[in-house]
Amino acid sequence: MIDDLPPLREVVARHGLDAKKTLGQNFLFDLNLTSRIARAAGPFENTVVVEIGPGPGGLTRALLAQGAHVVAIERDQRCLPALAEIAERYPGRLTVVEGDALEIDVVELVRRRPSWRAKRSDLEPPSGSLIAPPPTRNDGDAPRARICANLPYNVATALLTRWIEAEPWPAIFDRYVLMFQKEVALRIVATPAQRADYGRLGVLCGWRTKARILFDVSPAAFTPPPKITSSVVELVPNPAPLACDKAALARVTQAAFGQRRKMLRQSLKGLGVDAGAMLAKAGIEETRRAEEIDVAGFVALANALSAARGRE
Ligand code: SAM
Repeated sequence: MIDDLPPLREVVARHGLDAKKTLGQNFLFDLNLTSRIARAAGPFENTVVVEIGPGPGGLTRALLAQGAHVVAIERDQRCLPALAEIAERYPGRLTVVEGDALEIDVVELVRRRPSWRAKRSDLEPPSGSLIAPPPTRNDGDAPRARICANLPYNVATALLTRWIEAEPWPAIFDRYVLMFQKEVALRIVATPAQRADYGRLGVLCGWRTKARILFDVSPAAFTPPPKITSSVVELVPNPAPLACDKAALARVTQAAFGQRRKMLRQSLKGLGVDAGAMLAKAGIEETRRAEEIDVAGFVALANALSAARGRE
């Protein structure tokens, strides 16, 4: 027992929350597991946690029980009454925003939270939210912000990419603790040493964060069980990533991994600049393939592309 709220199965039955595949709904009912995920994201002193897809609230309850203030974004309206019961149990600590996380600026959401800034004028809730009353303000340190979620798998990579591509970088979040399909988790943490999994996602995450897999979660832990194993991943923002233009890095990795079996002198041809000159400027042999190039190499290529474009 982590709180005196009813068991999650009972909550799901009472509110008729049959899992919908289209919303990536694989719920966690084991409060030991949700507590483990929350612990991995903690400690939560003076911390606002953004949770995507609270569903019936298993992870939300674990985060709250461990002291977090939670701002949860949920697309499925059916979950709102169950979440309102949790908000009542933790007065002032849970704000539920109904909406599509892909369309919500999470940085702005946290910034608009009553506890985030000291000015009275900032206390208006974001539109459409069931906002909790302002928590007791801590007049000392500014609150920290973090994202923790059992992500809906159908939009997990899109959400992560959006967060990691945020400008300015680092965004306000000090850590991201997220559940993905294991196959995606392996791509997030991959380096050239894990060739088969290394690709655009690994370069982006390796450039801006330090990412690692914390632990795996078996399909049996979910209701309904997915076909595959899942993994909880921690991403810690790198405060000073190697300087390069994000769009140029995206173009280079897209071209290189788009034809990953080909040598770079061939795969980079589509960029519309002299691929040989670009590779020479980046100090990379023309015969190398994408999966052999580390993040620093791709940054050098992105900078060579920017320089070549600048000369056009
Ligand atoms: N956190 C709950 C748990 O661990 O049991 C539910 C996790 S379930 C994998 C994903 C949740 O994300 C569902 O509640 C689903 O309704 C919600 N969801 C799906 N797509 C979403 C979106 N685009 N924006 C916000 N929530 C979404």
